[in-house]
Amino acid sequence: MSKALNRRKFLKKAAGVGLTFPFLGKFPEIIIPRRKAASKLPVLLCSRSEEWGKKVLNPAWDTLQHTGSILDAVEKGANVVELDPEDSSVGYGGLPNEEGVVQLDASIMYGPNHNCGSVAALENIKTPASVARLVMERTDHIHLVGTGALRFAKMHGFKEENLLTEKARIRWLKWKENLSDKDDWFPPADGKYKKKQERTTGTINVLGIDDEGNIAGITTTSGLSWKIPGRIGDSPIIGAGLYVDNEVGAAGATGRGEEVIRTCGSFYVVERMRSGLSPQAACEAICQRIIDINGGPENVDFNDKFVAVNKNGEVGCASIRGSKNKKPMVAYINKDGFKVVEGSYLIEAPVKK
Ligand code: ASP
Repeated sequence: MSKALNRRKFLKKAAGVGLTFPFLGKFPEIIIPRRKAASKLPVLLCSRSEEWGKKVLNPAWDTLQHTGSILDAVEKGANVVELDPEDSSVGYGGLPNEEGVVQLDASIMYGPNHNCGSVAALENIKTPASVARLVMERTDHIHLVGTGALRFAKMHGFKEENLLTEKARIRWLKWKENLSDKDDWFPPADGKYKKKQERTTGTINVLGIDDEGNIAGITTTSGLSWKIPGRIGDSPIIGAGLYVDNEVGAAGATGRGEEVIRTCGSFYVVERMRSGLSPQAACEAICQRIIDINGGPENVDFNDKFVAVNKNGEVGCASIRGSKNKKPMVAYINKDGFKVVEGSYLIEAPVKK
């Protein structure tokens, strides 16, 4: 069924028109009755700790109170990080690819109708999550990439802007000039740029449930730093960096995207919750799965982190690697206020970013 049909049906349903759905292939479409408000709802969460958690979740919460829209709320939260040049892993200020060009990935998903949209390798637009939302709401497609995504954003009035901040440019230059002593780029003789620039990850997942049980989520990122131009990570891939299902909950991923893609990471978390695991146990299960498919902890020199929420508003968080001083965190806000929860990690190891 196309997104347009899906949406039309959903709108009719939301308008209270009694609909019966045709059988599609073998299985009937499942209609999920709206739930009564549960005590932990509404809830908004993000894959960050105290400082960013508050910066993101407070305005997202205010938006939810004012508009009542869980999509507006998660978009607002994502935009906060996207627009902040101090964050080097999302939106404006994100670290660039190997050619010094910032390319952004983002996805959005809405639980009541499984609608979703995403953009990938998008250049020059500060808020890719908002463009992803327009792909979801104003097209019958799901993924738009590169120049097509940029053209689409511009047609919707987004302004093209330089996303490479001075801070990010200098980090790129340090990386480039220290990459090899056999190429034509070398650092200044005074040793100023000597420090090796590690490849970094970051990203943010913002997930939320309104008081009627409608779930939405966003994942937005500048992706792996120094990536090959055109590389797309897990963040814009539905089921990898993000998955939302009103019947169960939502999950999002950060970290080494290739591993998340080949395990359909966020989808896996949601499906494990569907089969009865808590959000915490489901996040641990995907981390274990990634370790297993790599042949054991000795082969895992990267990190991935998952956050999840079930339809009752319970949250969980786990990473593959961590240490006592570097535990994965998830921040959430509900009627009782703002809280940061420490998750678990499976391999005790200093986290190599
Ligand atoms: N998952 C992102 C990617 O692989 C990176 C990150 O989380 O920082 O593009």
